[in-house]
This record gives sequence, C-alpha cells and structure tokens, in this order.
Amino acid sequence: MQRNFLETDRVTVAFGGIVALKDVSLSVVQGKTTAILGPNGAGKTTLFNAVAGAVRPTSGKVYFQGADITNASPSRRCHAGIARTFQITQPFGGLSVRENVMVALAARGVTMKEARAEASTYIDFVGLNAKAEDPARILSTGQRKRLELARALSTHPKLLLLDEVTGGVDRPSIPELLDVIRRLREERGITIVVVEHNMEVLLGLADNAFFLNRGEVVVTGSVEEVADHEAVRRIYLGDA
Ligand code: ATP
Repeated sequence: MQRNFLETDRVTVAFGGIVALKDVSLSVVQGKTTAILGPNGAGKTTLFNAVAGAVRPTSGKVYFQGADITNASPSRRCHAGIARTFQITQPFGGLSVRENVMVALAARGVTMKEARAEASTYIDFVGLNAKAEDPARILSTGQRKRLELARALSTHPKLLLLDEVTGGVDRPSIPELLDVIRRLREERGITIVVVEHNMEVLLGLADNAFFLNRGEVVVTGSVEEVADHEAVRRIYLGDA
C-alpha cells in the first residue's frame, strides 16, 4: 500500500481514563506544510508526542516514509529524520548561541571542528550571526525560536514538528521567523507540521490543515477550507 510521507492510522492515546486522541488518522504530504489546529486540550501536543515517540499510542499505527514506526524509540525516529521544537523553548541559558547549536551537534558524535563549522551554517540560516557569541538567556522569544530551529537542523531533519510557532513572539519579530520556516521547506526541502493559534500566520504558512477537537479530527482540507469551516471560525475568530 502506497503511504504518504507521514501517516497516523486510527491513533488513540489514553492516559488512564483521559482519552487525549481518538482514532486520529493524519496524512502529511512530503514537501507540504501541514497545520494542526484545535482549542486547548484538543490533543495537538499529544499528537506531536505520538509522532516523535514521546508517547506510545494505546492503539493505532504511525508510519514515516512507509515504515511502521509505532514502536520505534524517539532516538530511532530522530535518526530516521523526525525532529521537533517545543512550545516552551529550552536552550542552555548560560551557553552562547553557537555553543547551544554545537551541543546539539556533539550529540551526533561529530568533532569539535566540524561542529563549529556546521553550527555556523545553521546560525547563519536562521539569521542569528550577530548573536552567535551571546548567551542564549538574553535572546528575545523570537530569537530563541530561531535558535531552536538551528538546533533542530543539526539532526538533519526530513520532517520538522513545530509546536506553537509564534507563541509569545512579539509582532514585529514574526515575519523574520516565518521567513526562516518558509526557507526550511524551500531551500532544505523539509516537510513541516505546525501547531499555531494565529490564523493569519497559518494562512500564510500552511497548505493543508487538520482541526482537532477533544481528541478527534473534526475538519480536514486545504488550510483555506479548514479556516473557513464554521466549527473552526467559532473557536479561532469567536464567531457565533
Ligand atoms: P494546548 O493547546 O493547551 O497545548 P493540546 O491540544 O496540545 O492543548 P494536549 O496537551 O495534547 O492538548 O492534551 C490533550 C488532553 O490530554 C488534555 O485533556 C490533557 O489534560 C490530557 N493529557 C495530556 N498529557 C497527559 C498526561 N501525560 N497525563 C494525563 N493527561 C494528559
């Protein structure tokens, strides 16, 4: 059977009595940007966790590039090309931007010299050259998000899961961040799945969308179709 780049097939995740995801079938096309929408508690982070391997589905399957990865460890998934960023960024505050990226590279076992050179490429890509020697703790939220992207690049991802892309980022810094995300796809061919609450951002970034509510997929389609759906408008635009 021909499968899409990433697929979840009727994935259910239950934490005791709480069903966080119920029979979620998601399909992500290679080279496209896919958005996951939904109100608080809808199951978006749990879905990312199920794809990245941080939680195991109670039932259902996860496929990446045609292979069943349902029982693969997070590190195997990372080697296969799945990377993620988090809602709350977690850099080492006392280390410089460059050192933060080098630490991520060191985990791959490259030499210090190679790590330094490769880190420069990623820091340049995300536009943080001027901050490379500054401690990560003094970065703005938007700069931290870009540092997270540089760290994620160090794993050579094919699929990048971005949680709350613009959450906490001041408005003037958003275009620069979005530009980096668009270039990840255009220049590096990375397939992207985003969780994002800002509809304007989503419409400018994503091709397709899945709207989750209470753990279930309620609406799917192009991002424009999903944004226009009554259930989505009610939650995102406060329409009655
Ligand atoms: P938000 O937008 O607030 O981040 P979300 O859509 O990411 O929400 P999840 O964090 O995936 O939603 O949570 C889905 C449901 O599963 C919620 O009811 C949450 O309380 C529950 N849940 C998530 N993780 C756990 C856990 N480890 N143990 C118990 N319940 C959990």
